[in-house]
Amino acid sequence: MAGDLRPLMRHCCESHHAKTSGARKTESGLSRLGSCMRNPFTALLLATVVFAPTSKPEIPPNDAVRIREFYRLAAQLQDAVWPGWSGTPAPLLLVTQNAEFLTHHPSPPKDFQKIGDDLYARPRQFPTALQATFPAFGPPSIIVIGEPENTEAKTSTPWVFTVMHEHFHQLQDGRPGLYQAVGGLDLAHGDNTGMWMLNYPFPYDNPELGKLFPHLRDLLLTALNEPDLKEFKALARQYLMARKEFFAQLSPDDRKYLSFQLWKEGIARYVQIKSAEAAANYQPTPEYAALPDYETFQSYAREARSDTLSELKRADLAIWKRVVVYSLGASEGLLLDRLHPEWKQRYFSRLFTLDPYFEY
Ligand SMILES: [Zn+2]
Repeated sequence: MAGDLRPLMRHCCESHHAKTSGARKTESGLSRLGSCMRNPFTALLLATVVFAPTSKPEIPPNDAVRIREFYRLAAQLQDAVWPGWSGTPAPLLLVTQNAEFLTHHPSPPKDFQKIGDDLYARPRQFPTALQATFPAFGPPSIIVIGEPENTEAKTSTPWVFTVMHEHFHQLQDGRPGLYQAVGGLDLAHGDNTGMWMLNYPFPYDNPELGKLFPHLRDLLLTALNEPDLKEFKALARQYLMARKEFFAQLSPDDRKYLSFQLWKEGIARYVQIKSAEAAANYQPTPEYAALPDYETFQSYAREARSDTLSELKRADLAIWKRVVVYSLGASEGLLLDRLHPEWKQRYFSRLFTLDPYFEY
């Protein structure tokens, strides 16, 4: 029921950084937002469909291979990427053309039919291009994602790391009191669908911000590209001052919104990059390496960071709008790795803002 699910919607992820083809590299960040700008619940308005009594849906074999690889990969590297990540439940709902497949869920809802070991299915209800994480059936949060060809990832390896990004949202959502704290931001302004997280009227086209943003963006990139530690620290200080100046232009609500987005989506993208780099020497299973669109983890790891940095280089606040938070927030995470290597320990003690690390 759409009406039951809407208040639970938490966010919808753009997560295109991944491996991009030459053609996709020319796309603007805005166009790559893809399905996220559409209401993900449109499909729920379709009449409910039931499987014929004799039919038992089967998960496409390649999807099953990718999902197994995600869980194997996550188990091997998640704690090296983020302390304590491995305790996070990771239920996943795969959306295919006609059916949805649920796995790793503690109590699958009644409309799901058991079709295998820890695998349940029901007729499709969500859009096939959706990539989001939210408590669709009540807590815990579920990764709801389409097949690679229907999402921004397009192929298997970027898809696996998109799922890692979503899995980090499960860690965020699993913090006690998180949902109440989101409500406490008081930014919904009467919207109880959760869509405010995408549609909040941030002044993206404010001329003053338009002047300050390129300076902010370029200072961050210059600092990140500086190999000498002393020079890096001087550049980082300049970035902190520019960041303060930028935030000082914002109203209290706008400041809260931008901080929330950088904290949530920017750091999820940062984790996606760090996961890719941590997997550079990961040995995939033979079944995964045999997928027709197989791309090595080494090659994906090589480009993960530079893809996001080149995305930030092109970031345009007025045109891309909310999409700038992915590359900007991820780059702030990379900056903090050098500036305050212990920053992750404090990430959950001050929710929804990275400001404490920049108050030096
Ligand atoms: Zn996300």
